[in-house]
Formats: sequence, C-alpha cells, structure tokens
Amino acid sequence: MIVSPLLQHVSGYIDGEWQDAGEGPTFDVHNPANGETLASVAAMGASEVMAAISSACSALKLAQPYPLEIRKQWLEEIREALLTHRDELARILCSEHGKPLAEARGEVDYAAGFFDYCAAHITALAPDVLAERPRGCSWTVHYRPIGVVGLITPWNFPLGMIAKKLSAALAAGCPSVIKPASETPLTMIALFSLLDEYTSLPPGMVNLVMGPASVIGKVLCDSPDVPMLSFTGSTEVGRRLLVETAPQVKKLSLELGGNAPFIVFDDADLEAAVDHLMANKFRGGGQTCVCANRVYVQRGALARFEALLAERVNALTVGDGMADGVDIGPLINQAGFDKVRRHVSDALAKGGTLVAGPDPVTLDNAGLFYPPTVVSGVTAEMDCVREETFGPFVPLAAFDGEQEVVALGNDTEFGLAAYVFTRDPERAQRVAACLRFGHVGWNTGTGPTPEAPFGGMKASGIGREGGVEGLFEFVEPQTIPRGD
Ligand code: ADP
Repeated sequence: MIVSPLLQHVSGYIDGEWQDAGEGPTFDVHNPANGETLASVAAMGASEVMAAISSACSALKLAQPYPLEIRKQWLEEIREALLTHRDELARILCSEHGKPLAEARGEVDYAAGFFDYCAAHITALAPDVLAERPRGCSWTVHYRPIGVVGLITPWNFPLGMIAKKLSAALAAGCPSVIKPASETPLTMIALFSLLDEYTSLPPGMVNLVMGPASVIGKVLCDSPDVPMLSFTGSTEVGRRLLVETAPQVKKLSLELGGNAPFIVFDDADLEAAVDHLMANKFRGGGQTCVCANRVYVQRGALARFEALLAERVNALTVGDGMADGVDIGPLINQAGFDKVRRHVSDALAKGGTLVAGPDPVTLDNAGLFYPPTVVSGVTAEMDCVREETFGPFVPLAAFDGEQEVVALGNDTEFGLAAYVFTRDPERAQRVAACLRFGHVGWNTGTGPTPEAPFGGMKASGIGREGGVEGLFEFVEPQTIPRGD
C-alpha cells in the first residue's frame, strides 16, 4: 500500500466532500514495476456521477459569472500547490505509472505550466468590443462558460492531461466532473487533496468520479446538463463518445491516437536527430501519443543512423522508475507489454532485421519491462507501421525521395505529431505543409507545451489544448449588438 499525506482519502470528491467507500465497491490500483497493490479506491456508479453533475450545476454561475480576477486566482493557487508538492506528487505518479521519478517531476512542472499560462493569458477571455460598427450597432463579444464539462483523462500523463483541461475549464469559469483512468487514479486523488486544501474553489467547481468507465461515460454523454466533454484517449473510445453524444449535439474536444512519422533526410545532423529520437521515443517508456512510431531515414544515411541509434539504445537502463539511473520503467499493464511484443515479432516474421534488443521469444519472464528494441527494414504491411505501438520499440525504414516519404508519412488515419530532420529550410517548410499532422517538429522531437495550441488532424482528434486556442475551447462566444 502507498502511504502519503495526499492520499488520506482514496475516493471520489463531490460538492467539496470526499466520498469514502464505506461498505461500497472498490477497485485496486497496482504498481506496474512489481505488481504491488497500492490502494483500493472507492468505485462509483451512475447515481454518484449524477450527484457530481448536479453539484457542478450549482457551481455554474451564469447570471453572475466568476470575475476574471477570481478565476486567475484559482489558477495561481493550483500552480503554487503543484510546485510546492512536486516531490510527493511525483512519487505517487511514479508508483502507479512506472515512469522514472525524474520524468514524473518534469510532468508536475509541465502541469503547473498550464495553470501558469492560463493565469497569464486569461484576459484574452475578457469581453471584446468590435472595432467596426456593422449594421449601425456597437458589438460586444462575451466569452461565456460553456457550462458543466466532463473531463476524461488517460493513464500516460496522469497529471499533465488533467492540467491541460482543468486549467482552460477554470479559466473559462466552467465547473467540471473529472474521470481519470482506472490505472492511475491516485495522482488525480492527490491533485484533489491539493485543490481541497490549498485553493479557494467553491464547492462543486471540481468533482472527481471513478469507477467503470462505460457507466460513467454514459451518464456524462446522456446528461443534458453537460454540454461538453473533453477527452484524451484512444480513437476507439473517442468515436464512441461522438456517437453517444450525437443525440444531444454536444461539443467534444478530443485528443486521440497518433502514429507519428519521424523523417530524417540525409543532409540532417544525424547525431542530433538520434538525440532527439531518444528523448522523444523513450519518454514514458514510449507510451505517449507523440512518440515517434515509424522512423524513415533517407537511404544514404541509414547505416550510420542505425549504428548511432543501436549504441544509444543498448546503453539504456530499464527498471523500477523509483530507482536511480533508470531511463525506462515498466509498461502500464500486460496488454501494453503484449502489444509491443506482437509488433516486434510481426516485424521480424515479415522480414525486418533486429538492430538492437532481444528476440521477443526470450521475454517470458520479463514482467512488464520490455527491453528497448530497434528493427530495421520495416514495411507498410507490418503491424508496427499501421498501429500505434505505445512502447519502447523503434521501427526503421529507408526512403529515397521527398514525395515518397511525405506519402509514407501521411499513409495513416492519424494526424497528431510528425518530425522532420533536415538542414534545408525550404524542404522543411515544404514537407511540413504537406504532412497532415497538427504538430510537426523541425529538427526537434519536442512535444506539446502550454504556450502553443496542440491537437490532431484526421482521426487524431478535434480541438486544441494549450495556447490561446486552448483557452477558447471552453467558452461560447455570445454577441450583443447594441442598437443606438
Ligand atoms: P487507453 O488506450 O489509453 O487506455 P482509453 O481510451 O481506453 O485509452 O481510455 C482513456 C480514458 O477513457 C480512461 O479514463 C478510460 O477509463 C476512459 N474510457 C474508456 N471507455 C470509456 C467510455 N466508454 N466512456 C467514457 N470514458 C471511457
């Protein structure tokens, strides 16, 4: 069991009150590094989710909106609380997710950055008077909170993902009902301990519900009191939410799966490209939606790139994220491990060459620790090219020309992140413009940041998080033309 001052309650939170399980049902949370049970969390059903929605409704102030200064204060309080409790949050995050402690600390800073950004830019949501006087009127545009919002988050960034959503929702004045992934609810509970203790949020402004995802999801989809859902997770569940909310015509903000191409031209600084690939690919053990999923290297540079990459990959340390010097933790669960193993086995069976890492047949007793692996000679028929691997496996393929690699990159239903390495600025611009991805790193493998809008094209999602665009996701513009 995990003991922490931030986990005195391991339950949901509705209307400013913890909802301890009593005799009710619970679900267990495990440490993926060793299988240990960390906590038994109170599971909720439909009636609790409805109670959370009604509490959120009572916190929604439409007639007398929360002033911008108050909303800014909430955001600043949360940022402060996160940074003050950084180490404790990181320890909880590392225990339930498995990522190295240093990465977990980085995630706390990343999360704090979203509250900081929204606080600093909240005046963008102040009413705006149009410079023109169309139709002989003076026009004011008000940015009204859309209402009570459902925020559903995945396990790969237990704090980062909720920070993106909650910062923008609170900036807009929207109360929320929040559902974390069942694999990683403890970081969210710890966040709620901080919200409860260190902020002036009114009761009902933030509510936490946990339990069977489809039950909670259904109530949020069906409720006429929840006009918007913001979801990060799989494309499969995103599609389901689109269908289930269609009768109500809800607004959906969706950040779904990716299948990121990482393209290296032969004029690129290959050492730098390998550095960026290492940081990008192995963050969170390869379990991020912006991780390179397919690496295309121009034929003349492939042999050298392979050698540089193999050396770096062989030097990685896999282990319990709590231990010093660990680069890669365990995968989140057995299904995650099995998927990586299937992708590597499939690539080898279809003619790929193992460049680094073990033969997957030797991995029966590896726990959830998948050794980082590189396979060269991958082709479009392989599972690792078609599906998102979500693990520490790098598939490499050679390409010859620019148009060819653009077509390969775009040959996916996804469009979240892509990366291009070249010293030629014109080529970089040309290729980026042709790649149908919401984020295209040029000579960098960096991912999202609070200051810039991030989101997917095609089946990778709808809407943006971060930047001023992210601030506007949770408001509805209302125009008031004044005739005088
Ligand atoms: P992943 O593959 O990353 O686990 P999921 O899409 O399965 O992604 O899960 C992301 C989040 O969506 C989690 O909080 C999960 O519990 C939740 N979820 C899963 N199914 C549903 C559903 N039918 N309705 C609402 N939320 C769901």
